[in-house]
Formats: sequence, structure tokens, C-alpha cells
Amino acid sequence: MTNNWIEIAISTTVVVGELLYEFLETEGAKGVIMGEWASGKKSEYTVVKAYFLEDTKNIDELIGKISQKLDFYSESGLNKGSGEIVSKVVNEDSWANAWKAYFKTFKIGKNLIVKPLWDKYKPKKKDLVIDFDPGMAFGSGAHPSTHLCMEKLEEMASGYTDKKNCNVLDLGTGSGILAITLSLLGFEKITAIDIDLVSIRASEENFRINKNNINLFQGELKDCKETYDLIVGNLLAEIIENIAGELYKKINKGGIFMGSGIIRRKEDDVTSALINAGFELIEKKYMENWVLLLFRKI
Ligand code: SAH
Repeated sequence: MTNNWIEIAISTTVVVGELLYEFLETEGAKGVIMGEWASGKKSEYTVVKAYFLEDTKNIDELIGKISQKLDFYSESGLNKGSGEIVSKVVNEDSWANAWKAYFKTFKIGKNLIVKPLWDKYKPKKKDLVIDFDPGMAFGSGAHPSTHLCMEKLEEMASGYTDKKNCNVLDLGTGSGILAITLSLLGFEKITAIDIDLVSIRASEENFRINKNNINLFQGELKDCKETYDLIVGNLLAEIIENIAGELYKKINKGGIFMGSGIIRRKEDDVTSALINAGFELIEKKYMENWVLLLFRKI
């Protein structure tokens, strides 16, 4: 079945684009792309493209809200660029193909290689290759929040001496990219969950291609029956804040929560929520406007 999607393209600056990213996802965008990553050129200006299921949104109302957001950022002293907003209907195929045109193999950290299925790549000796197709799900590896998680997981992996028995959860797996990363890094007890069916379908296929033995289901943290030594959640700040108590319940003593997808200005809110729930903050890492926070359950 091919669904139709509404593409909303917003011409703005990279700074405002990143702030909009979060807003668009909260509004239900199933995918958000920043043109800047496409061309690989660093420029102050970009086009943000957000994709919504055709039947889920009142598009005029949404465009109005985006326009108000742009004005708000502009009034706060940020450069919103031209602020032009254009919408059109696209079918799933053209969306998928739009991705393919500018999604090329790239490296994260020391040895992690993110490779789209349709690209050719000759692996080097130490490479850990994630060979996958994100499809309509979030998680191409290009977003700073995913990048931060992958880099940190690679860095931390050698510190886990008993990876066979370490129980790990990828909370909000999207395309499955972080669960596959964990598997390549040697973890063997991995669960991946997502509330979104499109993500479940995409990650299921990607786990099959990568021959990963990952326990996958559709649901949220409270649906998990087990407790974990490590939970990775590349979710939005608000979502992490809301589930702080549940995270505490689902993590073993001394276990780690890696929280990503947090826009810098929300860093303190997320930190307070997790500390109030009983965690200690052990590390933070920044990339562009995003921060990754690492907590330990005391
Ligand atoms: N892990 C991937 C995708 C992150 S996007 C990466 O790092 O690139 C966040 C994902 O979390 C989305 O697929 C979204 O559907 C899912 N999600 C959002 N809220 C959730 C919740 N409360 N419980 C589980 N998954 C959630």
C-alpha cells in the first residue's frame, strides 16, 4: 500500500530549523529532513522538510502554527531567513527516493559505518557496518542526537566486561539504528521498542538484514516487563521528563540511562527530572544545538 504524505518545506536558517525540528515532531511529523545535511555544505540557511500523513493534519492550521513559531523565534532575536513555507502532496515512493539521493555512507566514532542499502562500500578491517534502510522511520544517523548516542555507545562498550548478560533497551528505536549499533558492539541481550508502527516495520526489516537477534515490540517503557542495565532513549526532552520515574523503576541499581534528543535549552529541565527520580548525572556531550545526558541509578 502506498500512502500519500504532505511535505511542508520551510526556508529558514539552520539555527531556527533545529528549533523547528522538535516542534514539527511534536506536531506529528513522521520525518524531518534538513537540506543542509543533504548538500554537505555548511551554510547559515537551510530548507527544513517535514512529512505528515495526509489524513492526520489540518495543513492550513499547521502552516499557521509554523508561521507563528517562525515569528516567535524572529521576535526573540533569531534570524528566521526568508521564512517561506510551501506544502505539497508526495507519495511514499518519492519520499523514500528523496532520502536515497542524498543519503551516503558515513562514519561515526572510530569504527561505526552507517551505510544505506543502496550504496556501495568496501569495509575496512575494524569497521562495524550498519547496512540499512531507514525508510519512513526516524534514525538515519545523520541527526546529531543519533550521532551522539552512537559515538558514546562505542566509547562505553569496552567498559562493559559482561556484554553477554548485560540487559539493554533501545527505547524509541525508529529505524533500529541504535539497537544494531549495540549488537555490533557486542551486546547480546537487546530489546528495541517503539510506539510507532512504521518504525517497528522498518526496524524489523533492518534487524533481519543485519542478522541481529533483537527482541522487538511495539509499545512504551511501561509495557516492558524486565529491568535493564542500560537504556538508550533518543527521545524528546519532554518525553524523557515524563517517564523519569518509570526509567528509575526499569533500570537496575548502578545501571545507566543515556538520554538524547534533548535540545540545549531543555538540558536543565531533563537533568532535574532525572535527579528528582533518583539518578545522578555522570556526563554530558554536546553537538550543535543538542545534548546527550548520561545518568546512573544510584
Ligand atoms: N533511535 C533512533 C530513533 C529516534 S527518534 C535514533 O536514535 O535515531 C524517536 C523514536 O521514539 C521515534 O521512532 C518515536 O516513534 C519513538 N517514541 C516517541 N515516544 C516514545 C515513547 N514514549 N515510547 C517509545 N517510543 C517512543
